[in-house]
Amino acid sequence: GRPGCECNACFAGRDCSLHTPNCTADADSGNPLFLEPYWRRHAAASAVVISGWHRMSYIATGIEKMFQSVELERQIRRLHRAVGNAVVDDKHVVFAAGSIQLINALVHALSPDANAASPPARVVATAPYYPIYRTQTKMFDGREYRWGGTTALWVNASRNSTDGFIEFVTSPNNPDAQLYEPVLGGSAPVIVDHAYYWPHFTHIPAPADEDVMMFTMSKPSGHAGSRFGWALIRDENVAKRANDYVQNSIMGASRDTQLRMLGIVKIMLANLHGKEDIFAFGHDVMRTRWRRLNAVVSRSRRISLQRMAPEYCTYFKRIREPSPGYAWVKCEMEEDDDCYEALLKAKIITRSGARFEASSRYTRLSLLKTDDDFEVLMERVTDLVNAENYDE
Ligand code: PMP
Repeated sequence: GRPGCECNACFAGRDCSLHTPNCTADADSGNPLFLEPYWRRHAAASAVVISGWHRMSYIATGIEKMFQSVELERQIRRLHRAVGNAVVDDKHVVFAAGSIQLINALVHALSPDANAASPPARVVATAPYYPIYRTQTKMFDGREYRWGGTTALWVNASRNSTDGFIEFVTSPNNPDAQLYEPVLGGSAPVIVDHAYYWPHFTHIPAPADEDVMMFTMSKPSGHAGSRFGWALIRDENVAKRANDYVQNSIMGASRDTQLRMLGIVKIMLANLHGKEDIFAFGHDVMRTRWRRLNAVVSRSRRISLQRMAPEYCTYFKRIREPSPGYAWVKCEMEEDDDCYEALLKAKIITRSGARFEASSRYTRLSLLKTDDDFEVLMERVTDLVNAENYDE
């Protein structure tokens, strides 16, 4: 049960323990509630009480970083060093309201000046890609930059010149959980989205060290509703332009949120490598989910999942089982050319491959939601596979 929470549509009762049979599984959104049980175990230690008089000011700390808590920045740098997932010493840190806000802040920061004579930058990504790169960029299409579509349109042209491109790379990728590298190469600036580059979701082969990186608290701690993300940026001028964007847009990330995040990061740090390590907890939940889903889908001829292998992780210092945040489902039967619709008929809500500019033969299942959500998903997937009937 989840006392105090809203139940999902398949459960009722005060603690959501009454299960409605044969109900539709909603595996659409990447809501990271798999971490809620961890924070229930640390409810008192992670609680933040803010008195009415506290943090009223526009100014968070000092003159130079007016809107950004110096202490939170210090703790975030410590977290990256301790996890070994990013090189922070030669980077500037820019806070934002979720990493969604960083998408546009960084595109702006890397684009030619609006007064420059150069044509607008073309912003591209390799399919399947996280669709908000497109929707955010299109919202502000204009003088500085515009959405350029998928890299597949440009790889040949860019063999001659990569001038004027900005490439998004997501690693591990949403939706298919693979670790990807940029494809355009040359001089095109790259924004690497490391939302899932934490040991819950992937092995960590080495600390990431790209020039412009995006992180969010939504996926490592699960506090998606606090809306907190940060960029790690090597170049001072690019960092300044990203910071200007956030200042002009919202005058810096919410001070209340920064205060709450400070408490959360401190608990994560204090428990690293102990028996309450949040990454050990998260990895355990996610690998168990992946293993259970695979066990059922491996009996199917109708649907298949992306292949993932155990890999050595520098954080756990051992080979770890795969634990992706999303399953990238392929419908194998000729008649199931719309995989989203095929699964919807089986009462499973997914996110269609078409949304990621991939084939509609694919669709994404979120594995990040609550235990209740995952159990209902397992029920419906098991029904789907059991209903397959072949004449041998
Ligand atoms: N990047 C990727 C790849 C994501 O999957 C998400 C959330 N689903 C985000 C960025 C945005 O996260 P937030 O705005 O909550 O930080």
